[in-house]
Amino acid sequence: MPEFKPLARQKAIVTGASSGIGESVAIALGRAGADVVVNYVEGEAAANAVVDQLHQAGSKAIAHKADVSAENQVEEMFERAMREFGTIDILVANAGLQRDCAFAEMTLEGWNKVLAVNLTGQFLCARAATREFLRRGVVSSVSRAAGKIICMSSVHQEIPWAGHANYASSKGGIKLLMESMAQELAPKRIRVNAIAPGAIRTPINTSAWDTPEALKSLLTLIPYGRIGLPEDIARAAVWLASDESDYVVGTTLFVDGGMTLFPGFSTNG
Ligand code: NAD
Repeated sequence: MPEFKPLARQKAIVTGASSGIGESVAIALGRAGADVVVNYVEGEAAANAVVDQLHQAGSKAIAHKADVSAENQVEEMFERAMREFGTIDILVANAGLQRDCAFAEMTLEGWNKVLAVNLTGQFLCARAATREFLRRGVVSSVSRAAGKIICMSSVHQEIPWAGHANYASSKGGIKLLMESMAQELAPKRIRVNAIAPGAIRTPINTSAWDTPEALKSLLTLIPYGRIGLPEDIARAAVWLASDESDYVVGTTLFVDGGMTLFPGFSTNG
């Protein structure tokens, strides 16, 4: 029996796809049948390695360098996607970074950088994707929706995070950006949702897991007792991008091993 490919004939852009969660999401979308633009801002060789894996999976993948916080570069990326693939069905707005700093020491540059990439970058990519979804509308042989946007948020859209005020603010912003877009665009059959990862083993948070002591301390925050892997997020992304989740609109899917269950209260507070 041929393998079921829930994203067959679909075209996707994954931002920040040369490492970590984005890399895993891009590969999973490709294996699910999508052609994928692998966006990166640095690390061309790593992006090309992701593209190679996608080609092996039968996906017509391309790597494209663009800074998601630069409007002209985002527009050029979508124009290239349109030229190469004809249209776009799925955006995974994943690119993000941290500039951790005690609040009193935080510079305006450090604040602006995190908001520009994590929040404005998602706005710019989602706007470009929305314009294409509205132009094309639903093609029922491809998907029940006119398009799907998945915003990569974080448990820190809910959990305050000392020393990371810029990052937590960007993720709190993504929550209401996602919900406002979802409310406005659902009548046009555009589904906007978010994934809120907990602690996932990637380059963004190496110091939280790369020594036994750090990992032990981290695990006290995770009821399920293990650190997350990029593949845990990738499986959620494939589902949210597919018609299997066609009635899921404006939801944040927490993939966090229970981190948002306030585990500090599990022994009577
Ligand atoms: P990562 O550092 O491996 O991935 C982030 C990617 O974004 C990198 O490839 C980086 O080059 C790219 N990027 C940074 N600035 C960019 C820009 N201006 N334009 C385009 N790309 C840019 O870390 P990750 O953990 O895979 O992070 C991916 C997303 O997941 C981020 O939005 C992050 O906030 C979110 N997240 C991660 C965790 C975790 O525990 N790892 C938890 C919650 C949320």
